[in-house]
Amino acid sequence: MAKAQLKVMLLRATPDPDEVVALGARLCYAQADLDSLRERVETTDQQGYIARVMERGHLSVTEHASFTFAVEGVSRALLAQLTRHRIASFSVQSQRYVSMADGFDFVVPPSISALGEAEEAEFIRQMEQMHAWYCQWQEKLGKTGESANQDARFVLPNAAATRLLVTMNARELMHFFELRCCSRAQWEIREMAWQMLALCREAAPSLFACAGPACLRGACPEGKNTCGKAKEIKERHTAL
Ligand SMILES: Cc1cc2nc3c(=O)[nH]c(=O)nc-3n(C[C@H](O)[C@H](O)[C@H](O)COP(=O)(O)OP(=O)(O)OC[C@H]3O[C@@H](n4cnc5c(N)ncnc54)[C@H](O)[C@@H]3O)c2cc1C
Repeated sequence: MAKAQLKVMLLRATPDPDEVVALGARLCYAQADLDSLRERVETTDQQGYIARVMERGHLSVTEHASFTFAVEGVSRALLAQLTRHRIASFSVQSQRYVSMADGFDFVVPPSISALGEAEEAEFIRQMEQMHAWYCQWQEKLGKTGESANQDARFVLPNAAATRLLVTMNARELMHFFELRCCSRAQWEIREMAWQMLALCREAAPSLFACAGPACLRGACPEGKNTCGKAKEIKERHTAL
């Protein structure tokens, strides 16, 4: 059993995502045949084509680019939030097929670590207690296999770490970044979202040039709940 560390990898992406989306954008509004469209998009301003369709709200064009992330060291609490995004595809480590008899890693909220070493040690002891309960139930339920695991896991915490693959197209990712890079989002999913955004900007700088919380593009939509940190958020975005 150990403290989990967030790890986010961009496993695969549509090759040349900016180019594919720019081609889709250009194709809709041009007479040209495919060969000349391809030549033009390969050699000219892809960001301009992408920016124009996005301004028009013609966002289906951005669905041609797809991104698969591998993530580990995140909590089941994060998983519950992430899987609310229905346009994404997921593969998640199973608590039915995978036994936690040897222990489970767990996420310690920074707010608990910030209370001090004694408090963090108490949190870790609680994780170990839950692991002991898990093993007791596994034993009573027949020790091995999915039928024991699937019910013993009811005493596992939201802090239990998991690993997963998630695939989203660029349109869904932009929506995800708007919601989850915002300061109103919970800290763990927010940190993961910012790391995903950095990877996307590297892979497709034009497509994700303006992606992120709404305050990057205009007024904060949160009204009286605004964090008031638009300037700091813009700086973080610039530094990605
Ligand atoms: C700060 C914050 C607080 C939250 N608090 C809560 C909470 O207290 N309780 C809670 O239950 N949830 C909460 N949520 C989750 C939230 O309600 C959404 O379920 C989650 O953010 C996924 O967003 P989505 O449905 O827009 O995205 P996705 O499921 O990724 O869908 C993307 C878009 O596709 C369209 N779409 C998808 N499915 C449909 C459909 N069936 N019909 C029509 N259009 C569709 C919509 O335009 C949607 O915005 C919170 C989210 C955030 C960011």
